[in-house]
Amino acid sequence: MQVLKFGGTSVANAQNINKVAAVVEQYIGKQKTIVVVSALSGITDKLIETGKRASQGDESYKELLKEIEERHLQLVRELIPVAQHSSILSTVKKKINELESVCEGVFLLKELSARSLDHITSFGEQLSSLIISKRFESGGMKQLWVDSRELICTDENYNAAAVDFALTNKLITDFFQQQDSSLYLLPGFIASDKNKHTTTLGRGGSDYTAAILAGALNASVLEIWTDVSGMMTADPRVVANARIIPKVSYKEAMELSHFGAKVIYPPTIHPAMNKNIPIVIKNTFAPQDKGTSIETNPDSSDREVCGISGIGKIALLTLEGTGMVGIPGFSARLFNALAKEKINVILITQGSSEHSICVAVNEEVAIKAKLAVNEEFKHEIQNGRVLPLQSETDLCIVAVVGGNMKNHPGI
Ligand code: ADP
Ligand code: ASP
Ligand code: MG
Repeated sequence: MQVLKFGGTSVANAQNINKVAAVVEQYIGKQKTIVVVSALSGITDKLIETGKRASQGDESYKELLKEIEERHLQLVRELIPVAQHSSILSTVKKKINELESVCEGVFLLKELSARSLDHITSFGEQLSSLIISKRFESGGMKQLWVDSRELICTDENYNAAAVDFALTNKLITDFFQQQDSSLYLLPGFIASDKNKHTTTLGRGGSDYTAAILAGALNASVLEIWTDVSGMMTADPRVVANARIIPKVSYKEAMELSHFGAKVIYPPTIHPAMNKNIPIVIKNTFAPQDKGTSIETNPDSSDREVCGISGIGKIALLTLEGTGMVGIPGFSARLFNALAKEKINVILITQGSSEHSICVAVNEEVAIKAKLAVNEEFKHEIQNGRVLPLQSETDLCIVAVVGGNMKNHPGI
């Protein structure tokens, strides 16, 4: 069993989807294959914008809906032979009608909850996967379309839900044991909570869907097919002469992606690493390229640094005060206050004197963080033992990553 995931640009239009089909076709008959697909590139952003405009009472959301509909209908026209149009066009129309009803509800209520937003964004992957499934079928590639929401169960943390692995692994193994198809197609990114409400796994989450399936089924390999020929020494959009890294360890890949290498969504590594499943990053537009293999102990004796990555729009929050020194519990209270507001901490440092703790967070949550922390420490701030939280914005984190650096003084 192997799992292949194709991202937004790989499925952006008919020409690209035909390339995807050509890649998948080569595997047919060799081993059982699961294909996971993203929404067409740009569609998730557009769906989010549609929901936002509807919730602001802005009727122009309807124009966006029309654009989304037209893009998918056009794709069907270009991708599927005319004789087979009717069923898939009616499937697409039905999905679009459902999406319209949800958006109308949001428009009337002028309210967009995180749950409604997940419902709305889920249509991107639902539509792309249904159309691609039809394309496979019309090209003689027999496969089974499976709704990922039936297999991946999460908590209710909409927009970036956490997977219930005990239940999910059981649902996945039970399901695939009962099937004998050699090719499966699933939408990435989407899942459901215990009440069967649609949830999503966070932006870029289709990679994670594929990893969850690969982990549960002990796949022989997880291939992430994208628009670059592997993980590179730096973001190719920023550094023109970035090079492909042929092999990286799971830990190095985790660090590079955590600090901004968008080519793989950070949570993806964990389910594969747990089962020692190699992750291979491949280019849909240059399938002959070797790509990058992510594995446990790659031979990397020839290098100390494997790559550099960076994240912008960072705020650095500093909690400082002479009253913190030697008193247990300060850090716990700081992180609890942030956790209660669901604020993700990207980086932590503490001065050795215990006089200050710094955390880096996304700039957009800096104000929320400041309010929460100042509230938590209001008594200490009043009596001067702690200073109000300081926040510096417009910063960037740059990470230099390499498993061998620790053995080489001076780097
Ligand atoms: P997909 O839609 O296939 O999931 P993404 O856009 O999420 O693709 O990720 C691929 C993109 O990640 C590349 O086009 C590249 O611009 C960007 N990227 C950022 N950092 C790196 C890196 N270190 N190596 C490779 N690609 C990177
Ligand atoms: N379509 C989703 C997004 O744009 C998930 C993905 O592409 O991985 O974030
Ligand atoms: Mg991606």
